[in-house]
Amino acid sequence: MNYQSRIDALRHTLASLHLDALLVSYLPNIFYLSGFTGTTAWILVGKKQLLFLTDSRYHERFREEVFPEYELVDFYQESVGAKLSEVAKRFGWRRVGFEAQHLSYAEAEEMRQQAAECELSPRSGIIESMRLCKDEEEITRIREAIRIKEEVFQELMGALTTGVTEADMAAEFEYRIRKRGVQAASFSPIIAFGPNSAKPHAGFSEQELIPGVPLTFDLGVVYEGYCSDMTRTVFYGGASPGWEEIYGIVRNAKESAAAAAAPGVACAEVDRVARDLITAEGYGSNFGHGLGHGVGVEVHEQPRVNSRSKEVLQPGMVFTIEPGIYVPGQGGIRIEDMYLVTERRVERLNALGTDVVVIK
Ligand code: ZN
Ligand code: ZN
Repeated sequence: MNYQSRIDALRHTLASLHLDALLVSYLPNIFYLSGFTGTTAWILVGKKQLLFLTDSRYHERFREEVFPEYELVDFYQESVGAKLSEVAKRFGWRRVGFEAQHLSYAEAEEMRQQAAECELSPRSGIIESMRLCKDEEEITRIREAIRIKEEVFQELMGALTTGVTEADMAAEFEYRIRKRGVQAASFSPIIAFGPNSAKPHAGFSEQELIPGVPLTFDLGVVYEGYCSDMTRTVFYGGASPGWEEIYGIVRNAKESAAAAAAPGVACAEVDRVARDLITAEGYGSNFGHGLGHGVGVEVHEQPRVNSRSKEVLQPGMVFTIEPGIYVPGQGGIRIEDMYLVTERRVERLNALGTDVVVIK
């Protein structure tokens, strides 16, 4: 990963904001700027300084993973505020930004007291906006996260049989991705059979397979720090009347939105295309969530693809399109694929088709 160019870009932003340094506390942003995958660290990026604060549990990992330009600063028994105060004095920093969205009120207050000699400036979205457009290496990792996920999903389809529960399938998924060396799922599996599939974020339960009704699988993995996210809704032993028609509407909405998506198009417009189509079919009130979201280091990140989004698609963005129609008490259909914004249009990153699948 090209950490140096990310740090250069960040320094450029800091200069334009008249900040001497930025304190980075959010782990996904720390990973993005350094490669670190542990769970305790802080980064301080100054005009010339690059400091990495972590305790002895992670010193070895620091040497293995972190971009070598960082200087390791051990901190264990002192607070971050005390360390910041010491470092600010050493380098003459007067104005230091911090990630306002990711630091609690109590943490910020404590830091203000302990590092009283510098002005702490709350900032939002500096690194998140850098993460919006992915480079080739990031896209390669995302593609691999999708490939592994699809391979495991197809194995799960082969294991669907009478008596199997949502929890069985979730366990199979976790087992199979870990056997492939994947460190984690990108979120806790959503495996929802029949009426449970009417709840968009159902999780999983002891519910047994039900023939004829929607069976929803919303799954993703993290591959070398990058996420995948895909939903398929399938049927077992046939589809009860009406479901294939709803499936067709959802699929049509997804494809129409993808056809409308291109660089320069507002995310809200992409949402509107799918929503108008579902509304015209009479299911507007059954589609209560946004159309999609960005995917990268985090499974849900910018750009948000919903009616309130102010973002505009740009080449390099990776996002999901995932319309759904949910009928309370009966079931729901959602289909989700990931897309890459290219120079002219969008590329569907999933290889798996979206034809209705009925497992016999
Ligand atoms: Zn999903
Ligand atoms: Zn999603």
